[in-house]
Amino acid sequence: RKKVVRISTGSKQFDSILNGGFQSMSISEVFGEFRCGKTQLSHTMSVVAQLPKELGGAAGRVAYIDTEGTFRPERISQIAERFGIDPDTAQENISYARALNSEHQLELLNTLSQAFVGGEYRLLVIDSIMNCFRVDYCGRGELADRQQKLNQFLMKLAHMAEGEKYYYLRGFLVALADLVWLAEFNVCVLMTNQVQSDPGASALFAGADGRKPVGGHVLAHASTTRVLLRKGRGDERVAKIQDSPDCAEREAIYVITNGGIND
Ligand code: ATP
Ligand code: MG
Repeated sequence: RKKVVRISTGSKQFDSILNGGFQSMSISEVFGEFRCGKTQLSHTMSVVAQLPKELGGAAGRVAYIDTEGTFRPERISQIAERFGIDPDTAQENISYARALNSEHQLELLNTLSQAFVGGEYRLLVIDSIMNCFRVDYCGRGELADRQQKLNQFLMKLAHMAEGEKYYYLRGFLVALADLVWLAEFNVCVLMTNQVQSDPGASALFAGADGRKPVGGHVLAHASTTRVLLRKGRGDERVAKIQDSPDCAEREAIYVITNGGIND
């Protein structure tokens, strides 16, 4: 088995509550209200993942699925400068795709799974996981359909993170055992998520102050690690581990700078 790598968030305090950073071969979810830093974290990690392991990276390429149209190449350049990476190289190492709808989002994943076979990718960002699904299935009666489609997407995502069991070959699902030449993908999946604004919503997944990620049980089961992001005092932001197999439910303070997420 390939060794699990941990990718730094850009903030030492944030990393410390994650025991070093977000893990490869695993799906992590950060959720929180607008402006708490989900997109900034996505940008920061897209640069950090390219760094050598000694510097908190994974020395790999990055795939970025943007469902909200908020990816900014200029931010990548600014963050790259902070970490001493050539801005053009940093951008070339990120395969960017804008998902236009939920069907397209799944298609992108299938395309990427073929690219991942090369073994160069270490991070897959999806900012944000539920946006297209919420737009495409907005009616009350469509919730069951949405959750079924979402589940299909997340199962595929899990296979990609772990890089095992299945692989899409020319559109067919193939057991990986038959394709022994395929290395484990060893990818860290980072997905961002919105919070429900309905104050009367079930408190089942409620975090601090009743903030609850959207996506229901289907998404809750797919995320190995869930982190709540919220605004703190002044410019401060707070990250809190909500659900993790190996980290305590601790909080960390971070800030958003020109160079990305920092202490
Ligand atoms: P949404 O739910 O709307 O997508 P988000 O959680 O993705 O929100 P971000 O876009 O990551 O939020 O963060 C926005 C915050 O980042 C704003 O407060 C903005 O001022 C700050 N920010 C953006 N760029 C910079 C920068 N270059 N320097 C400092 N702060 C910045
Ligand atoms: Mg955002």
